Amino acid sequence: MYTTLTMDSLLTNARTATADRVLVVDDNEDLVEMLSAVLSLEGYDPIPAYTGQDAVAAMKEHQPQLVLLDRALPDSDGLDVCARMKAVDPLRFLPVIMVTAKAHRDDKLAGLAMGVDDYITKPFDMDELLAKVRAMLRIKTTEDKLRQRTEELARLHEAEKQMVVRLTELDSLKSQFIATASHELRTPLSIIKGFTNLLLRRDDFGFDRPTEEQYLGLIDSQVNALTSLVDDMLSASRIESGRVRLQRERVELLPMIRRVLHTFAVAGSERGIDVAIDRSEPATVYADPQHAEQVFVNLVSNAIKYSYDGGNVRVSVSNGDEQVTISVRDQGVGIPTDLMDQLFTKFTRLENPRTVEAGGTGLGLFIARNWVEANGGRIWAESVAGEGSTFHFTLPRFREGVGPAVEANKTALA
Ligand code: ADP
Repeated sequence: MYTTLTMDSLLTNARTATADRVLVVDDNEDLVEMLSAVLSLEGYDPIPAYTGQDAVAAMKEHQPQLVLLDRALPDSDGLDVCARMKAVDPLRFLPVIMVTAKAHRDDKLAGLAMGVDDYITKPFDMDELLAKVRAMLRIKTTEDKLRQRTEELARLHEAEKQMVVRLTELDSLKSQFIATASHELRTPLSIIKGFTNLLLRRDDFGFDRPTEEQYLGLIDSQVNALTSLVDDMLSASRIESGRVRLQRERVELLPMIRRVLHTFAVAGSERGIDVAIDRSEPATVYADPQHAEQVFVNLVSNAIKYSYDGGNVRVSVSNGDEQVTISVRDQGVGIPTDLMDQLFTKFTRLENPRTVEAGGTGLGLFIARNWVEANGGRIWAESVAGEGSTFHFTLPRFREGVGPAVEANKTALA
């Protein structure tokens, strides 16, 4: 008999079930059975194993909280089994109590150095064994909590690091944006100033009427460019701050399209680009007119900016059942397929043969996506690098009875 087990010790130590799993490894089946019975009574969940191989397999399968391990197993050395079990999850503390007949001091010291956490010598006193089990599990609970805390701290630290990287990126994007926007404002302003000065001194130069009109046209197209730049900056800031006001109404698309194309006539003709309506049918949408116009302006402006001199830009409008699709097609530089999904994100400016001369803030398509989606539509692009691009967007068709009156009613009823 190995123990001094008494019924007393079993009952006085009886405690509330914790269901901590204890792996009991010994080739003596009677001993395993007896220890398992005692551990069950103590509220633990014993897992029996009779060989080193069984023990490692049970370790992987059941992930016990503690191991009672015989030093001399038939198939392997207990110390070796201890090392293999601890290696299953090296970051997790697995207390191993070595149950051994040999109690030589040097043997114990070697075992402790190799990862054994405590020893108990056969024949053992059951109270002492249970006390050691409890003590080890207490240490394990503390270790596990510490490990959890450390992992949480590491996660927080990682999240903070990512936040700092993101904020630094945003900061540099904002500085870059301010630099680009100032440059974008400066160019049209100097052109306007130059032509205005010339016109103010027309008596000195003696311009004829057509030359004066040409200069005024150029000033007007630069004022349009400035206006759309300022509109984009205001829109981006509204989108960012969530202060978007949607005032949807019935919008006739063709008059709006003709008006916008007219404002681009000078910019297009300067570079020999023909901008025209290709295929269109009368179409009425239910949208915020300013949003619809700004989206269209941005797409046409891009189509001209990223066209080669002498190209064509074509606009088409088609009615679907629920939505109207507006498409703007160019024969310009195109967009490589792998960059297509970046197009509609804020401040995205993709490198292409026209980027430098074309200028831009990287806001146009970001705003277009936000406005189209806010109005219940969709925007997407098709492109072949070097051959041209087509940008499409949809807006809901206007239907009698789907106007503001209906929405006002809904609000009143809510
Ligand atoms: P910006 O034109 O001010 O750079 P946008 O948001 O309007 O910003 O466009 C983002 C990027 O998408 C542009 O820098 C350009 O590289 C690419 N892009 C947009 N429209 C076209 C187009 N029609 N053809 C080729 N590239 C385009």
